[in-house]
Amino acid sequence: MNGVELRGVTKAYSGLAVMKDINLEIEDGAFLVLLGPSGCGKSTLLNMIAGLEPVTGGEIHIAGRDMTKLEPDERDIAMVFQSYALYPTMSVRKNIGFGLKMRGMARPDIERRVSEIGELLQITPLLDRKPSQLSGGQQQRVAIGRALVRDPVVFLFDEPLSNLDAKLRADMRVELKRLHERLGRTIVYVTHDQIEAMTLATRVVVLEQGRIQQNDTPENVYRRPANRFVASFVGAPTMNFLDGKLVRDGDAVLFDTGAGCLPVAGLPDHAAHLLDRPVTLGARPEHLVFDDAGCAAKVLLAEPTGPDQYVRVAVAGAEVTARTGPEQVFRSGASVSILADGARISVFDPDSGQAIL
Ligand code: ADP
Ligand code: MG
Repeated sequence: MNGVELRGVTKAYSGLAVMKDINLEIEDGAFLVLLGPSGCGKSTLLNMIAGLEPVTGGEIHIAGRDMTKLEPDERDIAMVFQSYALYPTMSVRKNIGFGLKMRGMARPDIERRVSEIGELLQITPLLDRKPSQLSGGQQQRVAIGRALVRDPVVFLFDEPLSNLDAKLRADMRVELKRLHERLGRTIVYVTHDQIEAMTLATRVVVLEQGRIQQNDTPENVYRRPANRFVASFVGAPTMNFLDGKLVRDGDAVLFDTGAGCLPVAGLPDHAAHLLDRPVTLGARPEHLVFDDAGCAAKVLLAEPTGPDQYVRVAVAGAEVTARTGPEQVFRSGASVSILADGARISVFDPDSGQAIL
């Protein structure tokens, strides 16, 4: 078992709790993404796994051993930071090989290992340059190379792509995913970027204010968010939330906001107990469908993005965003007909915010 296990981990700074009872099993070979807004405790958690920050309480096991009290270099982990933290006076070759030299590896072995990593990351032509002669993306590759060369049990990444421009970030994302598939090593990866989390992770852990909100597959985090926080943090444009009641109208189900009704088509039978009580309806833009069986709504604004368009509409006394294809033209002020897809919506308890469907 080469995974990581956190048991009841807590962290306080001057008595103020920032991590609260974190229990987490990270399977061997997982690409686990810690996702959450700035300040929620992602770096703190990663630094505690790395041994750069002591825990206040609890235990950290890596590869089946209790490593809670061990120094970073005794934990068989390698870390890549957002700031690449390269040695400015050393060549790329020396930057990558430095950790091995410190461990007393023989020079020919270091050379061989650095060449392999250079090939893997396609930076062979850069090996004799200094960091200042590299672009941001190239520097990030060197920082990754420095982690890979050590062949650790677990890789820890703290927002490694945040300093790159959008195009490079997308390219590096693909490379990281390939690298993980090729090496099969456990990766714990911190980001506040939900797209990175959704594309890279085999498992996503959503954090808010030092607590785990959901630990699930990327698909479930998106399709079945555990609570309103997860639902609103993942997905862009964000999920629409409407307060009101699900009510029956003959064979149909409507969502009654008090200021109007939105038809909910195909609500599953097991949701029957949610009728006639105050709830919050959560509908992603793609769960709102322009359909003649819907109710009257007014177009406020259409935003075409190329492959699809987001249409802001006023319905049932609220404003919502619906996603649709690029073909139809929506003029501001036009009347349309809209409904919610009951098979895909979420329903939340209005007080606790927990998902109840
Ligand atoms: P994230 O990486 O998710 O943005 P951090 O782990 O850096 O969040 O921080 C989590 C919380 O802990 C924040 O409220 C931050 O202000 C606090 N914090 C982090 N490091 C320290 C420190 N050295 N001293 C006091 N508070 C800290
Ligand atoms: Mg951070």
